[in-house]
Amino acid sequence: MGKPTGFMEYDRRPMPSRPPLVRIGDFYEIYARHDEQTLADQGARCMDCGVPFCQSEPGCPIDNLIPEWNDLVYRGNWEEAYRRLSLTNNFPEFTGRICPAPCESACVLGINEPAVTIKSIECAIIDRAFEEGWVTPEVPDHRTGKKVAVVGSGPAGLAAADQLNKAGHSVTVFERDDRIGGLLMYGVPNMKLDKGLVERRVDLLREAGIEFVTNANVGGGKSDCGSGELPETKVIDPQQLLDDYDAVLLACGALKGRDLEELPGRGLEGVHLAMEYLYQNTKSLLDSELKDGHYIDAAGKDVIVIGGGDTGTDCIGTAIRHGCNSVTNITRRNREPDQRDEDHPWPGPAGTFYVDYGHAEGAAKFDRDPRQYGILPKAFVEDPDKPGRVGFMEVEHLDWQKQDGRWTSTPTGKVERLPAQLVLLAIGFTGHDTPTLIQQFGVDTEWGQVKAEYGDFRTSVDKVYAAGDIRRGASLIVWAIAEGRGAARAIDEDLMGHSDLPAPGMTEALMSSAG
Ligand SMILES: Cc1cc2nc3c(=O)[nH]c(=O)nc-3n(C[C@H](O)[C@H](O)[C@H](O)COP(=O)(O)OP(=O)(O)OC[C@H]3O[C@@H](n4cnc5c(N)ncnc54)[C@H](O)[C@@H]3O)c2cc1C
Ligand code: SF4
Repeated sequence: MGKPTGFMEYDRRPMPSRPPLVRIGDFYEIYARHDEQTLADQGARCMDCGVPFCQSEPGCPIDNLIPEWNDLVYRGNWEEAYRRLSLTNNFPEFTGRICPAPCESACVLGINEPAVTIKSIECAIIDRAFEEGWVTPEVPDHRTGKKVAVVGSGPAGLAAADQLNKAGHSVTVFERDDRIGGLLMYGVPNMKLDKGLVERRVDLLREAGIEFVTNANVGGGKSDCGSGELPETKVIDPQQLLDDYDAVLLACGALKGRDLEELPGRGLEGVHLAMEYLYQNTKSLLDSELKDGHYIDAAGKDVIVIGGGDTGTDCIGTAIRHGCNSVTNITRRNREPDQRDEDHPWPGPAGTFYVDYGHAEGAAKFDRDPRQYGILPKAFVEDPDKPGRVGFMEVEHLDWQKQDGRWTSTPTGKVERLPAQLVLLAIGFTGHDTPTLIQQFGVDTEWGQVKAEYGDFRTSVDKVYAAGDIRRGASLIVWAIAEGRGAARAIDEDLMGHSDLPAPGMTEALMSSAG
């Protein structure tokens, strides 16, 4: 622990960002930077607790050695901080930017003071490591002769591929999109995660020996995640992968968007799943800086975003950058409390009201937070001047009350029409969107997810494993990395009889198996 009194001397200063009214003029990252002294002060706030809840359940899912690198940053030993960080996290440049930081919710200082800015420090360490040239391809010094196929190139597939390659296996990643990265590439928008950072990491993995095959649709079938028909993809036969490889990891995500098919007017033009909007925007941005026009344009439109999570926020931020006329984010939920309540005890998720980047931008541009709570969508209504196109949303207000310890909502009968020439459904995902792959591999599924135990990752079919959102349902990048690392260890064990690959929760597992 660098400075015993640090937490009393310095206030929390999370990662700064560019002013909202400036950054909405472009799609560059929203972040600004702290200077080195500020980061050292923030590191000094860490109390190096005897039991570091931040780095164990329910904190960081990959067991990042948080108090260690907080102390190293305080002392100015950035290279060692990077070495410690890279022991547990394959991609800190992604989590340091967009992880919701369950570690900070679990920070002991957070019980009665603002938590340590763990995520900002993580981001600063990895950015510095890249600038200094400390991050280099990790080419294994021997090859085992074993071959592993990874299907899907999101954070779960990439983390597994990285680990398996380090263990000396020959890894090929098959991706149906034209670019590698999964939702890191075509889900999370550029202003939250620059796509150059994803490509930089993929280049390192390629140099380390991993083979990437794009436009490769394993099992065929149409994607439901916004890319549409995938005309240029080559269909790969799952049986071929089973014949040619010693193990196959399914890391295909949970990309089937939840819909509102039952609502009147769903078929009107101008009503889209959020992923159609976000996917096409990023692809057009990368292909042509939006000059090819192959995206859904919100310019001049009143936009309604249904759903209050990360995806909804990303739709708000994107619509504002397109130059929408207004943006309203409706959610059935009640507004979160300002302080932790009895339903959200420490050290679990705080569940408090939070202003994300898109909300701040909406407030700066339109003088009001875009969020409206307790609103139930009832119907998409046709624009009388434009037959076939949506013009309004009909909604009903809900009343939320807590009864017998449970929150319940009741419709109030207050119905109104909101102008909406573009409606985006960001109400979650129901599971994988690749039924033909699942059918051809013959793996067991449940609720749209492939069945496999966490920590084991073996499916019902020999040699076939599953990790990430396809196994646990739509989740977070840090969980995808955790699952990719865990699956890599399980595969390595099965291929070699034992494994030295580290995986999350391993210390705990080893201790309990040792009795
Ligand atoms: C808009 C949006 C914003 C988000 N923001 C955040 C955030 O801020 N922070 C956070 O932690 N998490 C966020 N998430 C969640 C996070 O992105 C996911 O949990 C994570 O990417 C899941 O990783 P994965 O590797 O399991 O799958 P994915 O990233 O979904 O990757 C799966 C890949 O498999 C490919 N694939 C599927 N089927 C096939 C097939 N048959 N053949 C070949 N390839 C196939 C897909 O094309 C895709 O590239 C966000 C999600 C969305 C949608
Ligand atoms: S990966 Fe997420 S949970 Fe883990 S230390 Fe970083 S911000 Fe915290």
